[in-house]
Amino acid sequence: MERLKRIIRDVEDFPKSGIIFKDITTLLKDKDALKQAIDLLAERYRDKGVTKVIGIESRGFIFGPAVAYLIGAGFVPVRKPGKLPAETISVEYELEYGTDTLEIHKDALSADDKVLVVDDLIATGGTAAAVAGMVEQLGAELVEMAFLIELTFLEPRKKLKGLPLFTLIQY
Ligand code: AMP
Repeated sequence: MERLKRIIRDVEDFPKSGIIFKDITTLLKDKDALKQAIDLLAERYRDKGVTKVIGIESRGFIFGPAVAYLIGAGFVPVRKPGKLPAETISVEYELEYGTDTLEIHKDALSADDKVLVVDDLIATGGTAAAVAGMVEQLGAELVEMAFLIELTFLEPRKKLKGLPLFTLIQY
């Protein structure tokens, strides 16, 4: 885990002044680190009966399908507004400044689905909470939300109010 932590690059003042951006491209381009990160996530969910993995646009589309493939589940994209072609439900959530919206296809999940949500990083937890709301609205069961990185100083667990969260690396 220390090796994974070391390989993630800090980029200061991106995308704006004062933010330290956790750049995972340095992990993705390293074949051993990429394999380790995906294997560690997949191992945890191999026998949990997960039927669908949700990936959040856009970095959740890197890890989500790989984990889904390894645990034998389907993959469901949660996307920014206007990208999904069929009927959707949307959830609006708060950012540090302003709001954002995400969408999922209405028929992407059903009541018998056991869902794992995957993304690269959880910061304030706003995005994760919104996606958990979508899973609930569609009547499926949320098994857990898994992130490569947790920015603990932003206290995402407070916002998630007990929703199941797993993270590999904490800062
Ligand atoms: P949040 O809703 O606050 O948990 O934000 C999560 C989303 O913002 C994720 O999609 C992250 O990829 C992105 N994000 C937030 N802060 C950072 C950061 N310091 N470095 C990289 N990505 C970030």
